[in-house]
Amino acid sequence: MDIELEPADLAFQEEVQNFLNDNAYKPGDDFNAWRMAWFATAKDKGGWDIPKWPTEFGGPGWSPTQHYIWEKATAVANTPWDMPFGLSMLAPILMGYGTEEQQQRFLPDIRARKVNWCQGYSEPGAGSDLANLKTKAELSEDGSHYVVNGTKIWTTMAHIADWIFCLTRTDDSGKKQQGITFLLFPMKQDGIEVKPIITLGGAHSVNMVHFTDVNVPVENRIGEEGKGWTYAKGLLQHERTGLAGISRSIVALEDLKAQATTVKRGNGTLMDDPAYRAKIAELEVDLMAVEFTELRSLASASTGAGPGPESSILKLKGTEIQQRIQKLTVEAGGIYSAAWGATTPGHKFARGGMSGYLASRSFTIYGGASEVQKDVIAKNVLEIKRSSS
Ligand SMILES: Cc1cc2nc3c(=O)[nH]c(=O)nc-3n(C[C@H](O)[C@H](O)[C@H](O)COP(=O)(O)OP(=O)(O)OC[C@H]3O[C@@H](n4cnc5c(N)ncnc54)[C@H](O)[C@@H]3O)c2cc1C
Repeated sequence: MDIELEPADLAFQEEVQNFLNDNAYKPGDDFNAWRMAWFATAKDKGGWDIPKWPTEFGGPGWSPTQHYIWEKATAVANTPWDMPFGLSMLAPILMGYGTEEQQQRFLPDIRARKVNWCQGYSEPGAGSDLANLKTKAELSEDGSHYVVNGTKIWTTMAHIADWIFCLTRTDDSGKKQQGITFLLFPMKQDGIEVKPIITLGGAHSVNMVHFTDVNVPVENRIGEEGKGWTYAKGLLQHERTGLAGISRSIVALEDLKAQATTVKRGNGTLMDDPAYRAKIAELEVDLMAVEFTELRSLASASTGAGPGPESSILKLKGTEIQQRIQKLTVEAGGIYSAAWGATTPGHKFARGGMSGYLASRSFTIYGGASEVQKDVIAKNVLEIKRSSS
């Protein structure tokens, strides 16, 4: 897709490209040292380390077009990737609902990538129906702290996290969306047990987390007691927008096309195969449509509006596209995709194909399952009323 860029945007595009070229990873560099230096240099450029944060919190104040240019260029350049929990999910909540003291306490470390956060929302009986959560937080008699008991599940990176932002129940007498309280507390303390869950692709990224009498000072509560659902809903919209991964899909699709030209098929390559080409073309068209939707969302963000229910469209279509890319990668790798590991024979790209494909099954589950996104779109975007039957 080509959008017409104004001269000022073209100049910005060149500045971004120069920055990315000057700070690219060089083989042999210590990766972590490079990553931290990259963010420090980006910070010195005037908030390029936190492109989506508002200017009052140090962000660069870019226009939607500038964000678009940045997203595309950084996806191509394969710049250091951040876990979204602190930077993209918790930070907007702190900015919107945290006290000034909480903002000063937590935001600088999030920006410096010093503290790893995890998200304690889902529970064994509360996933899509999140408001059903039961993890209990009881206020101590002297009102100084909460005592937290319960279990969270699917908590990504809980095993390496320093802190958790957690939804807890402080009152179960009313509607289930009421009486939910948003707490922040350190993970490395007595009473917290983290158990690994190994997923289909053999990876350990998610966990079950048990809390037994964990003390959380009241000053670690975000906003009012019992109003956590309001803050959590806002956070989910930020999460969904971030999960669409459109620019990275554009790059992945180009890689896939290049890989398919290395696979022999008859007298030509897989990219000459009409059936495979048709699937690629269909994918490319859908990707373009989502890209336009993202641009519309960026345009509305430039008016100061946060991400709205259209973030569900981006999450739904963006993650489906990521899965289709993984599926076509496995298809291109053929039998060589059936195994994984550095020493397996066949096309080099096929070696990560199957684990990537299996991992991608979860993309349409986390951050709100696809069926739930469709419900949100029906209700809040298309404004379809539920039948009363
Ligand atoms: C890899 C991975 C990482 C995750 N990371 C985190 C994390 O860091 N923190 C966290 O809090 N959670 C995390 N989650 C949890 C994730 O948000 C939940 O899995 C998700 O919300 C779905 O909930 P559930 O698994 O309980 O499934 P359920 O809600 O039980 O859903 C089961 C099935 O029923 C369908 N369904 C449910 N309700 C409806 C409905 N109303 N209409 C139609 N169909 C419906 C769903 O679409 C799904 O297909 C993660 C999950 C995965 C897989």
